[in-house]
Amino acid sequence: MTKLKDAKPGDILRYRSRPRNKDEILCHNHVLFDGFRYFVARRGGHWRVCPCGWQPPSGWDGVHYARAAHVKWRHKVKKDPKIYERKWKKYLRRLPKVARQIFEQQRRAYQQAGRKGGQ
Ligand SMILES: [Zn+2]
Repeated sequence: MTKLKDAKPGDILRYRSRPRNKDEILCHNHVLFDGFRYFVARRGGHWRVCPCGWQPPSGWDGVHYARAAHVKWRHKVKKDPKIYERKWKKYLRRLPKVARQIFEQQRRAYQQAGRKGGQ
């Protein structure tokens, strides 16, 4: 893992962890394409404040960040929740069956994490 002093702005420092100082930010990836993961990155780079309401299992009362593409997507879903289902169905049709099952599991885990976050 990259140490904070060696990291460039936006670099990932640790997975499944929380920020320890003001140079570190809490981030998650774009669940729709990579499966859900969260991590700590050095402040800066391409990370944008994410509105999705997620919290890590240990709780977190500050903002968290995600890639700009994910943040844009979450703002769209907030306006029209139905596009979330439509996009998933379209995406899953292109995958082999075993991959579809894995993605469905990850999606449920993500939605449960979101509910715990008080969405
Ligand atoms: Zn988020």
